[in-house]
Amino acid sequence: MRRTTAIRKSALRMINEAAIETFPKEFLAALKAEEGVIIELVVLPGTVQGDSHGIMNTNMLPIDYSVIGTIHSHPGHSNRPSDADLQFFSHFGGVHIITCLPFDETSWRAYNSNGERVELEVVD
Ligand SMILES: [Zn+2]
Repeated sequence: MRRTTAIRKSALRMINEAAIETFPKEFLAALKAEEGVIIELVVLPGTVQGDSHGIMNTNMLPIDYSVIGTIHSHPGHSNRPSDADLQFFSHFGGVHIITCLPFDETSWRAYNSNGERVELEVVD
């Protein structure tokens, strides 16, 4: 699997628009990348969008090698992964984005499967 190093500005915009629309519930989706750049989101059927903490069922992830990670929103002001998030990340691998209020260009962070921050370049 090629390392993910960047995200398209349009994908970031989609993430924040979806997060705003889903607020105060959490928005969850899978991330698709091409050549190491995140290009779009895949909203999963059967994804739980609760107002408690969201749970993504890894069995729902499409069998698609362009899926390289996940995105979810936090309906608060922290984009730090919760214990449940860290557990989920460790089972999946890849890159995981968390965005939080106010859902703008600066309110997101990306993490690896160990819950460590990773830098993604924003590209056009
Ligand atoms: Zn979370």
